[in-house]
Amino acid sequence: MRSHRVAVIPGDGIGLEVIEAGKKVLETLAKKSGNFHFEFEDFDWSSQRYLSQGEYIPEGGLEKLSKFDAIYFGAVGSQDVPDHVSLWELRLAICQGFDQYANVRPARVLPGVNSRLKGAEEIDWVIVRENSEGEYSGNGGRVHQGHPEEVGTEVSVFTRKGIERIHRFAFKLAQSRPRKKLTLVTKSNAQRHGMVLWDEVFFEVAKDFPDVKIDRELVDAATTRMVLKPETMDVIVATNLHADILSDLAAALSGSLGIAPTANLNPERTYPSMFEPIHGSAFDIAGQGIANPVGSFWTAAMMLEHLGEATAAERLMAAVERLTASGLQTKDLGGSANTRDVTQAICSDIEQQ
Ligand code: ATP
Ligand code: MG
Repeated sequence: MRSHRVAVIPGDGIGLEVIEAGKKVLETLAKKSGNFHFEFEDFDWSSQRYLSQGEYIPEGGLEKLSKFDAIYFGAVGSQDVPDHVSLWELRLAICQGFDQYANVRPARVLPGVNSRLKGAEEIDWVIVRENSEGEYSGNGGRVHQGHPEEVGTEVSVFTRKGIERIHRFAFKLAQSRPRKKLTLVTKSNAQRHGMVLWDEVFFEVAKDFPDVKIDRELVDAATTRMVLKPETMDVIVATNLHADILSDLAAALSGSLGIAPTANLNPERTYPSMFEPIHGSAFDIAGQGIANPVGSFWTAAMMLEHLGEATAAERLMAAVERLTASGLQTKDLGGSANTRDVTQAICSDIEQQ
């Protein structure tokens, strides 16, 4: 029996609800398969903890986390903590601490889900986001605070090493997909240093992957192409900021923020990777039991694949597709089912297969 040690950080708001649902589904799958099981350990690293104890991650926390095979994460964010504090103190502390430099976000329209975009069924993308540097490297500062002449700087830092490794990762991923296409997205017409370096390194790395078809797009043009010609894109590689924006667009185009998953990968597997739905804590609906758990199920499938359980991952995605196709949907998708209905339905489907 294979055993997978998974650290579970539900976090805040609906993170708690969707991760509980996801764990149930994972346990049902493991039981059904009979050849692997999970050892889950819950961590209460949340905004509530920060408000009462002054920290998200206790001393030695990352060290403890480093012993796990994967991290299953909900969402972080609270009305009582500034977003830049919660993000940096918890999510980014883990991503950066474990060098999870490749953020992978698949997007496609699941059966039965209505997109507002005509032709959205053509969407089948994976967005690869550089997750360790660039615009979110945290460099900069403020001088003359509060003064009319105050200046704030936000310095993007791009390194050749950081750029090369994300391009290599994206090329390998594109190579593994049927269409073998990779689109580079930057803004190298207006930003003439780091962005030009991004372009240059991309074309250098491309020489090692002659079977991958490449093209490039400026980020503004990329948004229009995603809406107007979704079928022309496959894998997209972009910087931390650009890919952050493009992946919210991709999630919205493919139906709902409540569906999309993401993986923060340390591809070398020196440290554990972290898997999370892309949505936030969504306090407007937290505690009501109506959050869409599908994003956390899809996230769980990505985690299974990373853990070497490809068959179980496929079975889970097939069950997710039968679920969405059945029309049993939460409010964000236009239905009236609650989190528990949806979770029970997918669990009994898995049990019956
Ligand atoms: P963040 O600050 O991290 O972006 P947020 O609290 O603003 O988080 P988002 O994830 O950005 O929340 O979601 C925006 C809105 O979309 C939510 O307020 C909620 O109404 C809806 N939403 C997001 N995720 C879900 C979900 N899983 N199920 C149902 N509705 C959702
Ligand atoms: Mg938001």
